[in-house]
Amino acid sequence: MKILKIDHIGVAVSSIDEKKNFWMDAMGLTLEGTETVEAQKVTTAFLPVGESEVELLESTSDDGPVAKYIEKKGEGIQHVAFRVENIDKALAELKEKGVQLIDQTPRMGAGGAKIAFLHPKATGGVLVELCER
Ligand code: ZN
Repeated sequence: MKILKIDHIGVAVSSIDEKKNFWMDAMGLTLEGTETVEAQKVTTAFLPVGESEVELLESTSDDGPVAKYIEKKGEGIQHVAFRVENIDKALAELKEKGVQLIDQTPRMGAGGAKIAFLHPKATGGVLVELCER
């Protein structure tokens, strides 16, 4: 498996509109755009940082995964995404190594990326996303 870089850090927020100000005004980042991924009941906002991005995640529904995360743990870092050269190969390799996966096969994420999550139980508590774009 070849990891190319940390693609983005996913931050769960109750409101992108309210929480983007810190990242833009205080940290000086630029909001590149927002996108709603209905399948995951989430709206994402991307703020590039060098070769990576901060991804703000706002739930579009009370029963979405991001809403549930905030309910349980509060706002904050929800996942770390690693960009891989070939996500199918990466998943096959991890499966072979016995790593517990949430997604057995890739699904479509924001920005047309192919994404898959590894189970936090397998990673020491970090929700790891793999992405290929
Ligand atoms: Zn992500």
